[in-house]
Amino acid sequence: MTITHLLLDIEGTTCPVSFVSEVLFPYARESLPNFLMEHKEDTAIIDILKTAGQEWDADLTPESINLRRSTKKQNLHFLDANRIYLEHLINIDRKSTVLKDLQGKIWSHGYQCGEITSQLFQETTASLKRWHNRKLSLSVYSSGSIQAQKLLYRHTKEGNLEHLFDHWFDTHTGNKKEADSYRNITAEINAMSSNILFISDNGDECDAAQISGINTLFSLRDGNPDQDPRGHRVIKSLNDVDAYI
Ligand SMILES: [Mg+2]
Repeated sequence: MTITHLLLDIEGTTCPVSFVSEVLFPYARESLPNFLMEHKEDTAIIDILKTAGQEWDADLTPESINLRRSTKKQNLHFLDANRIYLEHLINIDRKSTVLKDLQGKIWSHGYQCGEITSQLFQETTASLKRWHNRKLSLSVYSSGSIQAQKLLYRHTKEGNLEHLFDHWFDTHTGNKKEADSYRNITAEINAMSSNILFISDNGDECDAAQISGINTLFSLRDGNPDQDPRGHRVIKSLNDVDAYI
């Protein structure tokens, strides 16, 4: 078994879960009202608000219907009404494409103006550079959008790391807990599954990758919600990966 390709999860694997849950998501939520106000003339933002409105119309959950009624009663402006709906989607943790798009735009703005810098594990940057120098092909597979993945690696304390990666995959490729997604990735990066090593902190994801024939390592860290490697080989630091490649 020769490993030529590393496929890396982000959250819990190269970056602390807390950065995503305690920095990125709160930043997007807190910035939402001002961001919409400041960009209300941008066509991209108007389109996002229109799409949110359409999603709301099609959303037949009682909460969303009630929210529609009350915002109509208050005669709220289009922007404020749709903002309230987007905030509702955040509160119920709905996986909404329009919300993801908007969060991506807010993060992009936050990184560019220096209000956010991504936090990686202490050894992540050196490990990525070491593997890249060893001519391993590096790819990302994360449930965050490809836009969000690139932003995260572009704006690290150690500079822009985007160039270290050859391929980027998000849930457009498929669910991270299904073996077919890993088969798609194997075809896309044009490698044999036995030459690929996938690293993730999630047991279901490791199981799915293994079913597809890809090698796995389970990232076990303090602060990760899943602490059960379920038979996958365990690493406690990215430095441990080198023993398997
Ligand atoms: Mg993860």
